[in-house]
Amino acid sequence: MDLEIADKRALVMGASRGIGRGIAEALAAEGVRVILCSRDGDKCAAVAQEISEVSGVEAHGIACDLSDPAAIDSAAEYARDTFGGVDILVNNTGGPPFGDISKVDIETWRSQFETMVLSVFRLTGHMLPGMRERQWGRILIIASTGVVEPIPELGISNTLRVSLANWAKTLSFEVASDNVTVNLLLPGRIGTERLEQFYKVNVERTGKSIEEIRAEVASVIPMGRVGRVEEFAALAAFLAGQNAGYITGTATAIDGGLTRRSL
Ligand code: NAD
Repeated sequence: MDLEIADKRALVMGASRGIGRGIAEALAAEGVRVILCSRDGDKCAAVAQEISEVSGVEAHGIACDLSDPAAIDSAAEYARDTFGGVDILVNNTGGPPFGDISKVDIETWRSQFETMVLSVFRLTGHMLPGMRERQWGRILIIASTGVVEPIPELGISNTLRVSLANWAKTLSFEVASDNVTVNLLLPGRIGTERLEQFYKVNVERTGKSIEEIRAEVASVIPMGRVGRVEEFAALAAFLAGQNAGYITGTATAIDGGLTRRSL
């Protein structure tokens, strides 16, 4: 399917690996020009080079630590200088630390709120006016199924991402008439480095082997397996596409049926 977004411009956060990288690749395969950001600028530049070689599109990689407001401002400025703005913004932060929610101290709540939530508001604040002016935009936010079904050991994620969900929904009302869509994507268990960390935490917590933990994780997923990054990225690219222009304010789980809710 041609998503009819060739030559659009995208800014993808948390893109050096995993879901963010997968989305950048899927967009580039549609001819979208991309800027990849993460804390490691060299890694992002190397990934951008690979993407450019495979897809033939213009791709750039720069450093942007989402815990640093000045770095977010610089990334936005880079996107404006390089592409003149962006049409597709993929708000993807790193995941927070695992552990008991009762043990999270106030400073950690504060810094995670800054990194996982305020960073998204800040970056979107930079990119949204241009989208509204041009009457075309796609804003995607990567959250977690923990938003609808809290996950043990992931209390920070469960808590903070709910605010992203309601922010996104509220924003979607305000910008729909400017042809800007805002949608949330909820990964269940997707095979990335983050999932490997999740396995390790559970090995330490339960004393079980990693094989046992892998099997347990897969066994509660109706599909019987974790998802592939490409399966996740395909929906992200679709939502960025021309045909998805009437889809906004949604929160879609990509989880092989893991969450037990009907709506
Ligand atoms: P990942 O850890 O494999 O990749 C995260 C990316 O974000 C990397 O590029 C990393 O460098 C970058 N990053 C981390 N901290 C950053 C910071 N402070 N500033 C800028 N970039 C930063 O994770 P993933 O599996 O690709 O997950 C992406 C998001 O989806 C994460 O927020 C994760 O918590 C969430 N999620 C993932 C799963 C899953 O099963 N993989 C499930 C639920 C939620």
